[in-house]
Amino acid sequence: MTALSLAGAGRVRGQLCSDSESAHAKRVEPARSIAPPAALLAQRVTHSPEETVNFGRELAKELQPPCMVLLEGELGSGKTTLVKGILASLASVPEDEVTSPSFTLVHEFGPEGRVYHVDLYRIEGERDLATLGLDDLLGRDATVLIEWGEKFGEDVSRPCVRIRFEHLGRDERRITVERLT
Ligand code: ADP
Ligand code: MG
Repeated sequence: MTALSLAGAGRVRGQLCSDSESAHAKRVEPARSIAPPAALLAQRVTHSPEETVNFGRELAKELQPPCMVLLEGELGSGKTTLVKGILASLASVPEDEVTSPSFTLVHEFGPEGRVYHVDLYRIEGERDLATLGLDDLLGRDATVLIEWGEKFGEDVSRPCVRIRFEHLGRDERRITVERLT
């Protein structure tokens, strides 16, 4: 058994991104909280890059735009590998064409720019972030995948999913998917 799923019996539960009423209906808002409420959607331990790519394909079906996806975890934890699966599914992008956009910072995919792959690794501070034009991207009817999402800050006022990566062993990664809004 290669998959451990705490939510949704092996399947991603519900629709992750579209701002549907049903997605909000069951959430109980805390009276006052600085951190946004997070709802666990799926968790998987993968044992190879291929498994992580396949998990990305699975997740992609649920990422309805507009949708911001924050990918968080240390270097080599598997963020870009998961993105390969998501992009293969959403925009038919061959895996070898997906690299961390470390220098260009933003890659655009799909016929009408419906999917963006962003890497904030080299971003330092608010001013750097502002030069990226992320607000413009996030205002579009698009899925925006953001590596090093922890640098994005607390603005989760739009439909947002956070995916956290933990490096458990040589080829083992725990991937946790939460809805933040
Ligand atoms: P990041 O984007 O988080 O820096 P990458 O996806 O670029 O990480 O790199 C992950 C590295 O770990 C790749 O070399 C990949 O082959 C390797 N790897 C080994 N096992 C896994 C796994 N289970 N899931 C994802 N990547 C894995
Ligand atoms: Mg990367």
